[in-house]
Amino acid sequence: MQFADVIVDISLDKLDKSFQYKVPERLEGQLTPGMCVMIPFGTGNRQVKGYCIGLGDEAKVAPEKLKEISGIAMREAGGEDVSIALAAWIRENYGSTMIQALKTVLPMRKSVQKLLRRTIERTASREELLSMLGESQRKRQVAKARLLEELLSEERIPYEWVTGKLNVSAQTITSLERAGALRIVSAESFRNPVKFGEEKRDDKSLSTEQAKILDDIFAEYDQGVRKTYLLHGITGSGKTEVYVRLADGVVSRGRQVIVLIPEIALTYQTLLRFYRHFGDRVSVMNSTLSAGEKYDQCQRAKNGEIDVIIGPRSALFTPFPNLGLIIMDEEHEASYKSESSPKYHARETAEKLAELTGASVVLGSATPSVEAYYNATQGKYGMFRLTQRLTGGMLPKVEVVDLREELKAGNRSIFSRRLQELLADRLEKGQQSMLFLNRRGYAGFVSCRSCGYVMKCPHCDVSLSEHYGGKMICHYCGYRTQKPTVCPSCGSKYILGFKAGTQQIEEKLKELFPGIRTLRMDRDTTTTKDSYEQILGAFASQEADVLVGTQMIVKGHDFPNVTLVGVLAADLSLGVSDYRAGERTFQLLTQAVGRAGRGAEPGVAVIQTYQPEHYAVAHSVAQDYEGFYEEEILYRQLGGYPPVMHLLAVQVFATEEASGRKLAEFLAADVKKRPDHEEFAVLGPGAAQIGKVNDVYRSVFYVKASSYQKLVEVKDALETALAALPPTKNIVQFDFDPMNFL
Ligand code: ADP
Ligand code: ZN
Ligand code: ZN
Repeated sequence: MQFADVIVDISLDKLDKSFQYKVPERLEGQLTPGMCVMIPFGTGNRQVKGYCIGLGDEAKVAPEKLKEISGIAMREAGGEDVSIALAAWIRENYGSTMIQALKTVLPMRKSVQKLLRRTIERTASREELLSMLGESQRKRQVAKARLLEELLSEERIPYEWVTGKLNVSAQTITSLERAGALRIVSAESFRNPVKFGEEKRDDKSLSTEQAKILDDIFAEYDQGVRKTYLLHGITGSGKTEVYVRLADGVVSRGRQVIVLIPEIALTYQTLLRFYRHFGDRVSVMNSTLSAGEKYDQCQRAKNGEIDVIIGPRSALFTPFPNLGLIIMDEEHEASYKSESSPKYHARETAEKLAELTGASVVLGSATPSVEAYYNATQGKYGMFRLTQRLTGGMLPKVEVVDLREELKAGNRSIFSRRLQELLADRLEKGQQSMLFLNRRGYAGFVSCRSCGYVMKCPHCDVSLSEHYGGKMICHYCGYRTQKPTVCPSCGSKYILGFKAGTQQIEEKLKELFPGIRTLRMDRDTTTTKDSYEQILGAFASQEADVLVGTQMIVKGHDFPNVTLVGVLAADLSLGVSDYRAGERTFQLLTQAVGRAGRGAEPGVAVIQTYQPEHYAVAHSVAQDYEGFYEEEILYRQLGGYPPVMHLLAVQVFATEEASGRKLAEFLAADVKKRPDHEEFAVLGPGAAQIGKVNDVYRSVFYVKASSYQKLVEVKDALETALAALPPTKNIVQFDFDPMNFL
């Protein structure tokens, strides 16, 4: 006999209050978690709709006391039925409990105080503002100047953006209010039908390429075709303009739009373009919002008060009544994958949500993920290209410096002679530079400074990581070897782990150019929420000559005065033992190059590398995505990596090393002895790349198969096996097609 846990009301605080029902025989095998059911409820046995969140074969009370499910109910197109179906799909495809999955998709339930929605309105004339701006610039009141500049071009600005994205404090706003520059307008007046900035809404005529995309997509849309499109276009080619028009078209057809943008790329300029178009019918979800504010956003979406929501990954779960389109900008970003269980990917989840709601999906990127491009070439996605830069700014000139040659010439500094020369020139001209250190490789890959040789695993074609005591370890298969003292390829003794941090680079710069003004951005300097914006703001107002940083600096804001970008060691990220290393390197280098020459002055990008011939380096220098993709997909095919094959990482977290390893070995053995074991391969188990964090030991093994569904079956079997074990403190997590190797 089967029993089902059923909830009647889908909301976070009711999740734990499920009711058990008997599953009638005719429904056994048909009913799965996530389905809608009809049940007799309460003393009068009223027929109500409920949702099955779990199944089991044990009754919690005497079975004869349990009522029976009446039948399976039809799923409706919007609202809670969609949420539960999506949660069930997430649970099934990424591995988690139904409760965890529901907690992911359901809006936070929290009592909120009445929210005050405020707007800042310009009250002074532009001339007055200009003189105030001059004064604050002289006094180096950077935040004040930022707000004044914004007020010069915008008559009204939402308060939350001024304090949030513009990073202007409430005191500064009040002081400008006292000075007569602005006034703060609250709630009711903001809700009036006058759209924010409506007078500034400009309908520029679309380029031929842009117009064709809109025509094609809407022609299909109006025929009822729903699918996923990939929009491949370099930065500045007009993608955002296309997003705005697509959203507009879908809204005018009476449906709503979700726009996903990674938080780090969500700039004020981009938001303004949506604000200008949709006024107070657009809302933004970001991490600076409180739980109450997020809840309020969801309510507004549910009640039809907004048409468009913009935000990072979690904005996908905005409960619109009639979703028509999901746009996903920078779809290649790793932040679209959740780092905690369930480890869902927003791209695949968006496609599922679109299927459930009858929406289309548009993915955009300058450097599409290998997954998305693969799907496009397989005909699964429609594909469009935007090839022209509309900003007018010229693409930077790219120069490659071979660091092996530098060493031969006796230069052991991290700055090549060419880079030093250009840095000196920019300092002289008063122009700005950005130096980018790809720190992902910090984890200790070992390479030869003389010939570029990288220590690799003979079985996996990924690089080995250096560990204490001169051991080299492969984190895929557990292969170990001793670190050599001379390069196996050329015999040089300069075979070393790479160890230079952003801080050392900043210090070296100051030695090289006394008096140079630098700013540094890395994980250490961006511990608070605002520090990221603060550093970028300071650099934008030219408080430094050089910004030194990790991958964080290659995204987001435009700096027109930057005419030099230096990539200090392009191949660092190639050394990471990870099948995505090539893809990540290509993306980072392409983005870094794109940072130079956004203004009127043409820019130069200098790429320093030990492996100028590596395809990820060479194709990013040539700015040739297709060329890169051709080689990358070949590598994935040969190695059997996603998207050609699929990978399931099974991670075991344990406070006792031996117990964790034993569990991992038990589970891996369980998988290996399945009757269908020829349809997949098991790698490991071994210690994870970072074997211990906070005294928790991590073991991992990988299952590789050409069918994703096969991996889902393996995961289900592992869950069953785990449930049969005596309770343990060890935690097991699943990660499908992981972004990083643990
Ligand atoms: P992307 O999102 O690809 O970086 P944007 O949509 O931001 O590109 O466009 C880059 C710049 O070109 C923006 O300043 C935008 O206002 C401008 N732009 C976009 N489309 C057009 C167009 N059809 N005509 C003129 N300017 C345009
Ligand atoms: Zn290996
Ligand atoms: Zn060598």
